[in-house]
Amino acid sequence: MKTQCDCCGDCCRNGGPPLHVEDIELVRSGSLAVDDLVTIRRGELVLAPLAADPSPAQTNWLKIQGAEGEWRCRFLDALSNSCTIYEHRPVSCRALRCWDTGEILAMAGQGLLCLADLMESNDPLRPLVLLQEKSCPVPDMENIIRTMIVHTERVRILSDLTVMVESDLRIRAQAVREFNISVARELFYFGRPLFQLLLPLGIVMTQTPKGIDLQYRPR
Ligand code: SF4
Ligand code: SF4
Repeated sequence: MKTQCDCCGDCCRNGGPPLHVEDIELVRSGSLAVDDLVTIRRGELVLAPLAADPSPAQTNWLKIQGAEGEWRCRFLDALSNSCTIYEHRPVSCRALRCWDTGEILAMAGQGLLCLADLMESNDPLRPLVLLQEKSCPVPDMENIIRTMIVHTERVRILSDLTVMVESDLRIRAQAVREFNISVARELFYFGRPLFQLLLPLGIVMTQTPKGIDLQYRPR
């Protein structure tokens, strides 16, 4: 049982931290770039601090992007287990003491910073962000998990999801085409592609000559 931080880095490996409104100065001052951040969209399945299982995000919020395709915080120096932005780390990192979890649990889901807090009103990408929210919001993941086992429901759900996944990909492609944004910037504005959010549910996308195809392949 730990009684103080021994810099094992486990908390940083479990995922980049969420940002809170107090962290907005880190972005405004340039300590954190928007390309370091990923939008978590309302409804996405996320693991709350110390929770055993993922549950749907209650709001849109931002967190620090992972590294090398994993959730490990991109600011963790994996060799030394040290934080490369230690003096400018977010408030949730300051509050996280794995041996005394009261403060981090009290912060969980409260006062989270989101894309709308950082996006200027005249941001040229705003119309596409709003279009994504309207045409392909994150579906009710828990309902999908419950109903996918019924074959007739499965056909309908996969059909509906196909339309949404296509719309999500189309909006991202338009953003890249018209504004030449990087993958990192895409994650900031649009979060992870909808088809990636469906993978943990056993829904796998393949590209076919006719378009995309979603299959249910539970593990
Ligand atoms: S607070 Fe994080 S780095 Fe420190 S001991 Fe706990 S898990 Fe390890
Ligand atoms: S910002 Fe630093 S302290 Fe916070 S999760 Fe990343 S590496 Fe760990």
